[in-house]
Amino acid sequence: MNRQRNRTALVTGANRGIGLETVRRLDLAGLDVVLGARDPERGLAAARTLSSPRVRVEELDVSDAKSVTACAERLAEDSVEVDVLVNNAGIYPTVSFFSLDEDIMRRALDVHLMGAFRTCQAFCPGMARRGYGRVVNVSSGLGALTENVPSPAAYGISKAALNALTLVVSAAMPQTVKVNAVCPGWVRTDMGGRGAPTGVEQGADTVVWLARLPDSGPTGGFFRNRRRIDW
Ligand code: NAP
Repeated sequence: MNRQRNRTALVTGANRGIGLETVRRLDLAGLDVVLGARDPERGLAAARTLSSPRVRVEELDVSDAKSVTACAERLAEDSVEVDVLVNNAGIYPTVSFFSLDEDIMRRALDVHLMGAFRTCQAFCPGMARRGYGRVVNVSSGLGALTENVPSPAAYGISKAALNALTLVVSAAMPQTVKVNAVCPGWVRTDMGGRGAPTGVEQGADTVVWLARLPDSGPTGGFFRNRRRIDW
């Protein structure tokens, strides 16, 4: 590996909210950043709000296996190696369990669980080969089994599944690749709403911290406010 090259981070669902703030902070920290957005126009518009012209925008719908493969192929063609993967893309179906239909349940699993499954399969083997990697799965306390997966049902179940994926991928990776999950707290975004107590800077703080962990940092953990929490 060329030790002089900057680390490259890919952030999914990064055209707004916590994802966009994570892109901004990783770029400021000197990483090369790929802003993943399912709608490239929205991705480009988001990138224009950043002060840096260095951020690369990629079309990436994590619920579509072909979209993930195509994105990975475009990056490989341009010799872009993803060192840091932030699985941030998310949706928030609020339907209660007995009103849930299969489509909503499947959609939540497709974005939160299968989306991260697809990106981990696409990008983690390269991290293992190169001997460096950081994977941050943006989860939620609403998916914590120790909190009884508080609700809403499809959201909580799919985030609990993302937590399980975090443990499995962490165990499959060498110690040089750190794979962790994070609850950003209740954050003022389109998803969190205007009444949320936490700003987007604080919401992205633990995400960015995990994305830049030192080699001595933890793997296979679940964190909020830079502290380990129960699954
Ligand atoms: P947000 O403002 O609603 O942003 C969600 C982002 O995910 C958007 O960019 C959206 O793109 C993208 N997205 C949705 N489906 C996608 C797909 N199939 N492929 C690619 N991108 C997709 O939400 P946020 O608050 O920043 O949430 C970010 C993450 O934090 C989510 O995983 C969420 O579950 C988690 N989280 C948030 C809170 C909170 O209070 N806000 C709390 C706990 C956990 P479009 O613009 O195209 O829709």
